[in-house]
Amino acid sequence: MKKFILLNLLLLFVIVSCQNNTNVTNSQTQADTTNEHLLMSTVWYQKSAEMRAIYYQSYNLAKMIIDERITTLDKNQKKAVILDIDETVLDNSPFEAKCIETDKSYSKKTWNEWTQLSQAMALPGAVDFTNYAKNKGVDVFYISNRSETQLAVTMKNMKELNFPCVDSAHFMLKTSVSSKKQRRAMVAKDYNILLLIGDNLNDYSEIYEKRNQNLAFDIVDKNKADFGTKFIILPNPMYGEWENAIYGNTHKISKELKNKKLKDCLRSY
Ligand SMILES: [Mg+2]
Repeated sequence: MKKFILLNLLLLFVIVSCQNNTNVTNSQTQADTTNEHLLMSTVWYQKSAEMRAIYYQSYNLAKMIIDERITTLDKNQKKAVILDIDETVLDNSPFEAKCIETDKSYSKKTWNEWTQLSQAMALPGAVDFTNYAKNKGVDVFYISNRSETQLAVTMKNMKELNFPCVDSAHFMLKTSVSSKKQRRAMVAKDYNILLLIGDNLNDYSEIYEKRNQNLAFDIVDKNKADFGTKFIILPNPMYGEWENAIYGNTHKISKELKNKKLKDCLRSY
């Protein structure tokens, strides 16, 4: 009888162990695939010297454009530059890292948890460039799709990093409309806009919103003279309109379907 009980206990132990192993394997597989698309891009953004060099290169070019454009305008004319905030002047890659770590996605709640900390770091060259522009008599406007409810925490974050023009007159956050067209027009009413800078083509023009099947390649090609002259585009491999376009101009689909669509769109040989 004792032997029988021992044998049963041993069998039970083997079954439970096998089940546990299966569970571990399943959850590992899930964690390996759900935010898989974010891992390499976030590591590149945080750990590649190339990323830093591109930001410096872009902001160096921005200074040259400002210098050149100023000479074409009357001294008394009001001048402005327009910058996006996220992944343009502030580095939110720790938010993406947290999404990978916790296997969560962007949501109002998770995004709010990060922004409330006011702990984003400045991107390379951004503080230097914006102060350079300000010292040349150019107003710096920040047009961002952060929610208006995040104005105070965003200004606190940027003030601590020594960005100029940190006041409500120079911040245009999102109220109800995502398109930045109207906000850009408000600045253009009173100012000569020397340059726009962003990590999303929508930061420059509404023609890049709701992208077509060509993913706006044709529109970019047609307007190639704008880049590095009127608009400076910064790199963001972690998310953006480019990604939404691949999903069909939405990000509200399952992670599994996202991964599938990303793999399906690849051009191979
Ligand atoms: Mg941005």
